This record gives sequence, structure tokens and C-alpha cells, in this order.
Amino acid sequence: MNDITLQDWRHVTRRERQVPAMTARPEKLVYLLRHDALYATDVALQLIAYGYRTVVADDLPQLVEMTVARKPDCVIIDSEESGATLSPADAERIRTAAKGPLPILLMAARNNFDARLAAARTGVDGYFTKPLDFSVLTERLDELTIASSMRHDRVLVLCSDTKRSAFYQGILSVAGIETLCPARPSGMLHMLDQFRPDAVLMDIDLPGCSATDLIALMRQDTAFDDIPAIVLSEQTDPSFRQSVIRSGADEIIGKPVTPDSLVFALTNRIERYRNLRGMIMRDRLTNLYNHAAFKEQLRREMARARREKKNLALALLDLDYFKKVNDTYGHTVGDQVLRSIARLMRQRLRNGDVVGRYGGEEFGIILPCTTTAAAADVLNEIRIEFQNIHHRSRDIEFCASFTAGIAGYGEDMENIDPVALIRIADGALYQGKRAGRNRIEIAD
Ligand code: GH3
Ligand code: MG
Ligand code: MG
Repeated sequence: MNDITLQDWRHVTRRERQVPAMTARPEKLVYLLRHDALYATDVALQLIAYGYRTVVADDLPQLVEMTVARKPDCVIIDSEESGATLSPADAERIRTAAKGPLPILLMAARNNFDARLAAARTGVDGYFTKPLDFSVLTERLDELTIASSMRHDRVLVLCSDTKRSAFYQGILSVAGIETLCPARPSGMLHMLDQFRPDAVLMDIDLPGCSATDLIALMRQDTAFDDIPAIVLSEQTDPSFRQSVIRSGADEIIGKPVTPDSLVFALTNRIERYRNLRGMIMRDRLTNLYNHAAFKEQLRREMARARREKKNLALALLDLDYFKKVNDTYGHTVGDQVLRSIARLMRQRLRNGDVVGRYGGEEFGIILPCTTTAAAADVLNEIRIEFQNIHHRSRDIEFCASFTAGIAGYGEDMENIDPVALIRIADGALYQGKRAGRNRIEIAD
């Protein structure tokens, strides 16, 4: 076993050593099953620089032993140059050792159909061909590990009586799923909006209506399109199944259902919807919310702030002289800079903050329950850190900066809508640009 620490890495930039831990996010643990020791050390050092504590295992038995002793957040397998790769049995051994879900990523020398098919059969969560693009690899690592440690699946449960709902809630809570159960079916729409569940679980017969009625009602509102609906029923005949699926349900589970199969059906659907939602709502380059999704999040957060009588800060951030970065170093290097600011924001902001790519080199940040002064402090720390990053274009290093404008939203601003708030933040951003760039400006 080879535990590499930051001190071992002589190339760590000053920035990475000096960064104060602004976020409460714990360091993630990655086990790397090596093939070539030298290459593994190199990969581990890169991962450490990206904030992952990485421990190298020399062989599979050692990896299994380490996993039993302490479950990591992710396992990365370096498959052999010869093409020999992880077998389904090996993957199973690792998962069994983890006693629960564990993301496994594969680094491979080959990218042909057979190699990918073999990997798919092991059920790995990602396949990365060498030479590795670390920003892509760590993007996936972030996704998978944030998912495992911070995500909390939420399910809205509607049952024919309270005894049954308590039964299902019990099963789901043992599996770590948060549940909510409206007293009457009529409370469903309100709870869909407020609780934002990841899935809805319903008995086919409900007091005063059926699940098909409720699902049809739910599907009338496109805001709930991305919530899977699962129905529990004893009936199995094809025409019944067709009518339920036609109403907009995703799956029918036959009763009686075992706890394992219920949890499996729900988490499977939730995961799939989440992946699809990610593809629709995320910008491909930075993996942040795209323009439309960011605006939708802003609408939601402003509505929540109004409801809960809390304030909120909106920051718009625009890279300085970015056209010159592209013109001097090329578009690919420009893309790297965009990825680095996106990553920095994700690392430095709180979980509840929302970050989006608002335009080409413009980003938006929603900071709920935050005053403009506190938002400016956070943005200023990010600004300083960003301007110290040394971006590379072949042998040349260069630095970049951004300017941000901040608008506040509070109790006395009911007549301000998302578009107006964006305009205010944009005005402050423009002021910042005029005042010389590389600064944070708060709107009056
Ligand atoms: P200012 O400080 O006033 O903001 O100057 P600027 O050069 O950043 O502003 P301008 O709006 O003139 O240029 C923005 C540049 O951002 C132009 C465009 O080519 C670049 N850009 C937009 N989207 C992308 C992208 O996805 N990748 C890359 N590499 N560049 C992009
Ligand atoms: Mg711009
Ligand atoms: Mg710009």
C-alpha cells in the first residue's frame, strides 16, 4: 500500500497549499489499483492535486483488504496494456468487500468495442482511455463521490391508508431514503413543489381517487416531468398495466413487494432520471447548470426566499479579456480556463449555492440566505484564488481573472423578478469592468 500525501509532491503549486478550507466538504478517499507503479504514482499525485486523498493498491487482494478495512469513496482500476481488464468476478469481489454501493472507474489503454463491452459487463461507472484527461476524470469523480456522500434521495409516498404508508416509509428510511407522506392525495401537488422529491411511490387505490388520476394530474405540469412515478398494485393483466403506464407512470411493482426489490426499483429509477436530468440541465464543458436550468433555479430560489422571508444574493461573473486568452493560446486552452473556474466555484461554494454557466465566459451564482456583503467576501476569495492559478499552454504559463457584479434580493423587493435581478447584477458587473476589471462590485 502506498499512501501519497501532499508533502510528497514537489510540483504542488503554492495556490493549492495555501488555499484555506472554505468548504465543509470532507476530503474524498480514492483507492487506485495499479498496473505500473510509476504511472500510478503520477496519477495519484494528479488526483491529490484535485483534492482526492489517493491510496495505491499493488494488487486485487490488497485492494479488497483495504476496502474491507475502510470503504473508499471510489475505486479506480488501471487495466493492463495487454488489454486484460477487470473481470465481472473481480468487480463483484470489490463491491462485496465494500458492503454497499461503490463507484468503480476503469483507466484503459484501449478504446475498442471489445474492451468497452468487457468493461460494461463489469458494471463500471466510467471508462477512461489513456492518456487521461484529468479534468474529465475528476469531473466524473466529483459527480460520483458527491452523489454518494451528500445526496439524499427523497420519495413522496401516497398509500391507501396510514398503516401502509408507515410500512413503506419504514422500509425506505432503513435504506437512507427520506420520505414524506401527504395526509390526503389532494396535498400531492403542493408537496411535489415544496419537497421536490426524486420519485413518487403510490398505491394504485387511494382515498377518493386512483394513482392513474393523480399521475395524470401530475403530468399536466411540466415542472414535474422529471419526477418518476412508481405504482404498487396486485393487478397484473396487460390492459391494466397499459392504462397505468399511459397515465404517465414509469413502473408498476407487483404486490407483495420485498423491501430489497422496492428499494432497488426506486433507486434505479431515481439514478436514471438523475442522469438524464443532468444531461438536459448541464453544460457539457463545465458540467454546471446551463443557461435555462440556471434561470429556473433562480426562479425557484427567489420564490423560496420570498416564502421563507430570507434574503439571497445573485452574482454574475465574467472572465476578463477572455477573447485575448483565446486569441493568444487557442480555444482549447480557453476551454481549460473555463473548466478551471467552474471547478474552483464548485469546490469553494456551499452545497446550497447554485452555479451555472450563464453564457460563453459568463457564470451565475445564487447564494441563498446570504447578504450581498457576505457574497462579496466569498466571491473575493474565489477571485484571489483564481487570479493565482497558473494556466498552461505548452510551456507558457499565464493567469486570468474575472469581474463579478452582485445583486441582493430581500423582503422588500417583491416586484423584482428573476430577469430584473439579473439585470441589476449585470449592471454591477458592467461597473466593475469599467472600474478596471478583476474586482467584485455590489449593486446599489
Ligand atoms: P471583457 O473583459 O470586457 O469581458 O473582455 P472579453 O474579451 O472577455 O469579452 P468578449 O465578450 O469580447 O469576449 C468573450 C470571449 O469569450 C469571446 C468568445 O470567443 C469567448 N468564448 C465564449 N464561449 C467560449 C467557449 O466555450 N470556449 C472558449 N474557449 N471561448 C469562449
Ligand atoms: Mg462576456
Ligand atoms: Mg469577458
